[in-house]
Amino acid sequence: MIWTNEYNLPGPYAQWIMDDQYDHNPDPNHYSATELVQPVRMTILTRRHRDEIVKDVSKCIKMAMGTACHKGIERASSFEPSWDEDVNSEYGEIEIRHSAKFGDITVSGQVDWYSPADRLVTDWKFTSVWAVMNQVKEEWNRQLNIYAHLLRANDRPVDQLQVGATCTDWRKGEKLQYGDKYPPIMYMPKPIELWWPSTTNDFISAVLYKMKPLHNVPDDELPVCTAQERWLRGEEWAAKKKANKRASKVFKASEGETGADAWDYIKGQDKPDAWDVEYRPGSNVRCEDYCDVCEFCSFYKENIDDR
Ligand code: SF4
Repeated sequence: MIWTNEYNLPGPYAQWIMDDQYDHNPDPNHYSATELVQPVRMTILTRRHRDEIVKDVSKCIKMAMGTACHKGIERASSFEPSWDEDVNSEYGEIEIRHSAKFGDITVSGQVDWYSPADRLVTDWKFTSVWAVMNQVKEEWNRQLNIYAHLLRANDRPVDQLQVGATCTDWRKGEKLQYGDKYPPIMYMPKPIELWWPSTTNDFISAVLYKMKPLHNVPDDELPVCTAQERWLRGEEWAAKKKANKRASKVFKASEGETGADAWDYIKGQDKPDAWDVEYRPGSNVRCEDYCDVCEFCSFYKENIDDR
């Protein structure tokens, strides 16, 4: 990783961010849960180009805050509880790394908190209120279920999964506006569906199976991340009369609509030849703002970098 400091952040502050590094295992026969959860192209490009990735400290402040909070919780768990013994005083296991074998591959993951009494797995996340209130992200489902698998493989039964979310943009004013739909405090537990053990086993095996033949495949030929993996937002097809600037009807991917729906709509109009469909590509949020390896990705270079 090559760090830059474009905004000239103060030395100790920048150093704190640079210290906030993900501990990876370069062994080709070892994958972390995070690597299995993110898109395959991203994982392989990250492994190949880790030393060439250029990152500016200004873009990693939020990540550093999340890591600092994780470390704070871990440190505090070494103290004796300072409240009544009968009130939620069970610490369980905090930040323990577990692993399991899949043939010759080892999969590992560091579990934020495992409570043996409740057979509960918790992953702390520092995220927005809306990320918690909306539907659970598929990547959260996968990550927590991989942890459950690793725990079960190490004789720790699991009955419940949750994200322990700190909503960093929580506002009292918004609580008054949205009422019961809004978290009452800044912390909100979000239950995650526990898969059948065989489902998780199949999921992990399928990702490893997909990844195996790709090790010698050139960067540009790796399977491109899907629209869902790229967090594509705002893709639309506008059906409009050629003579008009404004669209008569807009079909949105976010509502399950496609370009074919727009063309069908046109076919039903008087004089369809006078109509056209304008494609509006939307934005690939992950590629644009949340992918460290975009510089090495042909999809990014061809579709986003030179827009
Ligand atoms: S830039 Fe986009 S398509 Fe390329 S690896 Fe990153 S997320 Fe995937």
